[in-house]
Amino acid sequence: MPRGRSLVRRAAYRVDRLPGRPSAGTKSRGACVHSHMDASHRTEPYAVTLTDTAWRERLNAAEFHVLREAGTERPFTGEYTDTTTEGVYACRACGAELFRSETKFASHCGWPSFYAPLAEDRVEYLRDHSIPGRPRVEVRCASCGSHLGHVFEGEGYATPTDQRYCINSVSLTLEPTRD
Ligand SMILES: [Zn+2]
Repeated sequence: MPRGRSLVRRAAYRVDRLPGRPSAGTKSRGACVHSHMDASHRTEPYAVTLTDTAWRERLNAAEFHVLREAGTERPFTGEYTDTTTEGVYACRACGAELFRSETKFASHCGWPSFYAPLAEDRVEYLRDHSIPGRPRVEVRCASCGSHLGHVFEGEGYATPTDQRYCINSVSLTLEPTRD
């Protein structure tokens, strides 16, 4: 797995490029040992705050599972995995604009992949230790707190940031550019 080796080797000096990382450099072994603000430390409520009952009325079962329960759609099944249509991807839960098609790239990982969010304040990052021994950085909508996916970096993709925002299709709604 050449890509996996490169991930670890390059992470040590790429890790500081993710937003929100304190300047004090801790040695990291993998690409995802970041010190991101944890949403559990939030003092402000999300701009869009609904009860689970209200979310279930808005979202279908698959959307609710991914967005509100941090689920993951099966790879290569999402409707936007290979989409190249120009437009803006909005949060399917609250409608906040999150990613632009210009930053979408063919990662071949099975999920829509972007190398940057539309703006840094559109998303927030949480440490995710749900897989033992494989810490990841979860990406959530900053407006409603819904789960979008994870971000990885230092994998060697030929993109401006070498970051891969690995996002569930079901978390997004593409609003195509009108011409
Ligand atoms: Zn949202």
